[in-house]
Amino acid sequence: MTHIRAPRGTIDVFPEKPGIWQRLEETVRSVCRNAGYTEIRTPIFEHTELFQRGVGESTDIVEKEMYTFLDKGERSITLRPEGTAPVVRAYLEHKMWAGPQPVKVYYIGPMFRYERPQLGRLRQHTQFGVEALGASSPALDAEVISILISVYQHLGLSGFVVRLNSIGCSECRPRYKESLVNLLSEHVDELCADCRRRLRRNPLRVLDCKNERCAILAKELPPIFEYLCEDCSRHFGGVTECLKALDLVYELDPTIVRGLDYYTKTVFEVVHSGLGAQDALGGGGRYDGLAEELGGTQTPGVGFAAGIERAVQVLQDAGDKETSTDAGEVTVFIAAMGDEAKIEAFRITHALRKQGISTDIDYLDRSLRAQMKYADRQGVKTVVIIGEDELKGDYVIVRDMVTGEQTRVPFGDLIKILTQNTILSKDLKLPREK
Ligand code: AMP
Repeated sequence: MTHIRAPRGTIDVFPEKPGIWQRLEETVRSVCRNAGYTEIRTPIFEHTELFQRGVGESTDIVEKEMYTFLDKGERSITLRPEGTAPVVRAYLEHKMWAGPQPVKVYYIGPMFRYERPQLGRLRQHTQFGVEALGASSPALDAEVISILISVYQHLGLSGFVVRLNSIGCSECRPRYKESLVNLLSEHVDELCADCRRRLRRNPLRVLDCKNERCAILAKELPPIFEYLCEDCSRHFGGVTECLKALDLVYELDPTIVRGLDYYTKTVFEVVHSGLGAQDALGGGGRYDGLAEELGGTQTPGVGFAAGIERAVQVLQDAGDKETSTDAGEVTVFIAAMGDEAKIEAFRITHALRKQGISTDIDYLDRSLRAQMKYADRQGVKTVVIIGEDELKGDYVIVRDMVTGEQTRVPFGDLIKILTQNTILSKDLKLPREK
């Protein structure tokens, strides 16, 4: 029979790899909590309409990348391709607007996009992100950007560039779009097929087209800064002033427009040249019109989303070989010989785990010598040896694996001695069971 493989564009994070993932997720949680953000978990699937209305019909995501299906009740369901529309939906549904503002949340979870898989581009990928809703202060835009950068800095991930732009609002953007259409209409023949289509529906996307000829044309176009209304200009000035106050280095880049329709004013991306063609580590911006688009009252919001697989890639390329925090966790190993001793070992193992000391035993009927070797390879600090002689004599041998020192301990005192051992108690992985 042929082996069943994982679907194209998906990956397994298996026991040799999760170290960096765990460190990344823990860093995200700490950095977000430190800035007053709490976790939100929204469903993996939503009504398709949420993304059609929220992300926008003319976007690549909605046009061709969604995993959409009819469920058994004939409802159109979509595996979430992004996290912002679901968070805003939850904000409205649970009337979070009625509480203190801004509401600041973060999330970590899988997203699904039916894209052509290639290096750095998956069909299921994992994002972490933050959303801050209910405040329009430019300082909040800068806070959101600084959180993303802080995550990378805490991880020791370097070499990235922050690109910043404003795409204006419903006041000033139409004027800019109009002049783009006018200017580009004279060069339609030079545009790629996608951009020719975009010219009518979403001309801003021509600015970030990866096609070489489109990119040359885009460079010649006037930057949006010249078209921003007074409010958008002032807001953008506020964001850059706050970023400067944090000494956060950024580049102004008028070609950053983001692929989702809901953005207003600030947009940004963090890119890393080590990633190749798919060079975006993360990106985000302000979306003051999204709540209204989803049927709520006008609510300002700003956030970012960043890819975990891509950050892991950069960290690994930089030589980050950290092993799992799960691996090598076992502190005590009970090595036993003989049936009766094995039952005792099993009992002691569970008694120590109840005390919060991570403990393991042999499940392969290994010889005592092989059990010691296995324990050593697992990085265990203490091995308790129970054989037939020990059982008869009512004692066990406790071996310090670092010094090699062995002590006889009366059977009845073992758990007390191990739980009082200062070296082991420093390693407690769990609070003691009550
Ligand atoms: P986006 O919402 O498209 O800006 O995505 C946010 C971040 O998620 C990107 O900057 C990438 O790091 C990551 N990302 C987006 N799509 C994919 C994908 N198909 N495969 C892997 N990572 C992705």
